[in-house]
Amino acid sequence: MSVQQAIREVEALLGKERVLTTVEDLACYSFDGTADAPSQRPDAVIMPKSTEEVQAIMKIASKYKTPVYPRGAGTNLSGGTIPLKGGLVVTFQMMNKILEVDSENLTATVQPGVIIASLNTAVAPYGLIYPPDPGTVSTATMAGSTAECSGGLRGLKYGVTKHYIMGMEVVLANGEKFRAGGKTVKNVTAYDLVKLFTGSEGTLGIITELIVKLIPAPEAKKSMLAIFSDLDDAGKTIAGIIAAKVIPATLEIMDKTTIETVEAFAKAGLPTDAEAVLLIEVDGIPEVVEKEAQAVVEVCKRFNGKVQVARDDAEREKLWAARRAALPALARKSPTTVLEDATVPRSRIPEMLRAIRAIAKKYDLLIGTFGHAGDGNLHPTILCDEHNQEQMKRVHKAVDEIFRVAVDMGGTLSGEHGIGMAKMKYLEWELGATGVDVLRRIKEALDPDYLLNPGKMVAGRS
Ligand SMILES: Cc1cc2nc3c(=O)[nH]c(=O)nc-3n(C[C@H](O)[C@H](O)[C@H](O)COP(=O)(O)OP(=O)(O)OC[C@H]3O[C@@H](n4cnc5c(N)ncnc54)[C@H](O)[C@@H]3O)c2cc1C
Repeated sequence: MSVQQAIREVEALLGKERVLTTVEDLACYSFDGTADAPSQRPDAVIMPKSTEEVQAIMKIASKYKTPVYPRGAGTNLSGGTIPLKGGLVVTFQMMNKILEVDSENLTATVQPGVIIASLNTAVAPYGLIYPPDPGTVSTATMAGSTAECSGGLRGLKYGVTKHYIMGMEVVLANGEKFRAGGKTVKNVTAYDLVKLFTGSEGTLGIITELIVKLIPAPEAKKSMLAIFSDLDDAGKTIAGIIAAKVIPATLEIMDKTTIETVEAFAKAGLPTDAEAVLLIEVDGIPEVVEKEAQAVVEVCKRFNGKVQVARDDAEREKLWAARRAALPALARKSPTTVLEDATVPRSRIPEMLRAIRAIAKKYDLLIGTFGHAGDGNLHPTILCDEHNQEQMKRVHKAVDEIFRVAVDMGGTLSGEHGIGMAKMKYLEWELGATGVDVLRRIKEALDPDYLLNPGKMVAGRS
């Protein structure tokens, strides 16, 4: 078997201790953060220590036509790291060094396996931050979040991962490597290869080094909780805050189902009789923060919201811990939590919230909705049981409909969780047949044998 031959050659290269092949080890890499996705064991899990080793692994994989799945912490929510066709999972826990913090150029250079929170800890003494912050900051890796182009709680003001990736080193399917971008603020040399590989979900190449942009940490922050007895009022408040020309760092929503579940789990003092709450944080220089916080309070009141302002860091932390607990709390309520990230222009948030409610009613499902409302990025979360086949049929119909509605509103299939295997079937709705063919042509130019993360994002020609 050629895959076994490939494994033997990799073992000869790295030593057996960095090539895992026991059933127990392989089972740990047969799934990721995605519910309602198939599981599949790889044939081996490989832990390289250097770019040269990654190159050698890809040359062996290429020789034996063995699939390779780059994997960070496996927290993605689109089935992006499931080794669907067997083969080799390559992980980066042994390539986890912060190579440089350059406080003059405001950049950091990191290896792929660095955890996002570790980077922020390392740059804090310089008064700097790396802003992208998915809910998994303390587990997700720099390369995984780059390949997924993750967003997170601060996307509204600070943007998402792609806005912070300045340069990278990449190993291609044939084992060759190249570097693109760098530390310069300006760089328009040829096609933007850095952007192409950011969000490429492990399908075009393996990221072995990253240069990222850092920014000065905000001097002051103010967090607020706005409580609404009407979901529409919460939706109008989101649009109203932006219309008042305030761009909060964070503007998050939780609906009634989510509030009740989070409160039962986290005891954060959330009002369980509310229809919706907004969690809002403004940051910047102290005078501006005061002014913006006042403006936010006025808009909330205009749309019948009751506002509580966090008085100190402890209260602030409690609020954000509650928001971060949203998904884990919902996940406790049912055996399966199907979480989506359809995104609409933010002016259409109230409409989208209503549509999700109507879909829940139509298919008789419990859907908790929370998410990055200021970005138009909602996370409708369907609480279900994958062993109940009749219910799962309704879940799949509801998911189809949520994506259809989002695309029809001028939105997108994914605000931040990527396409992976979970959303491939919808791609033509957004990109059209020609757009999907462009993806395929890019994939085949770089990886003609579909060795890198096969079965994700771009379907092979059948
Ligand atoms: C509780 C929870 C909350 C979350 N909250 C958010 C959120 O707020 N915002 C958000 O955007 N996401 C969120 N996510 C999704 C997830 O955390 C992010 O997508 C995360 O950044 C992925 O990082 P990872 O290291 O786990 O990558 P993985 O899941 O391991 O991989 C993600 C993708 O990157 C590819 N990849 C990994 N390493 C490399 C490499 N070296 N080279 C090339 N490709 C590579 C993989 O093949 C895969 O396609 C959440 C997930 C969970 C479970």
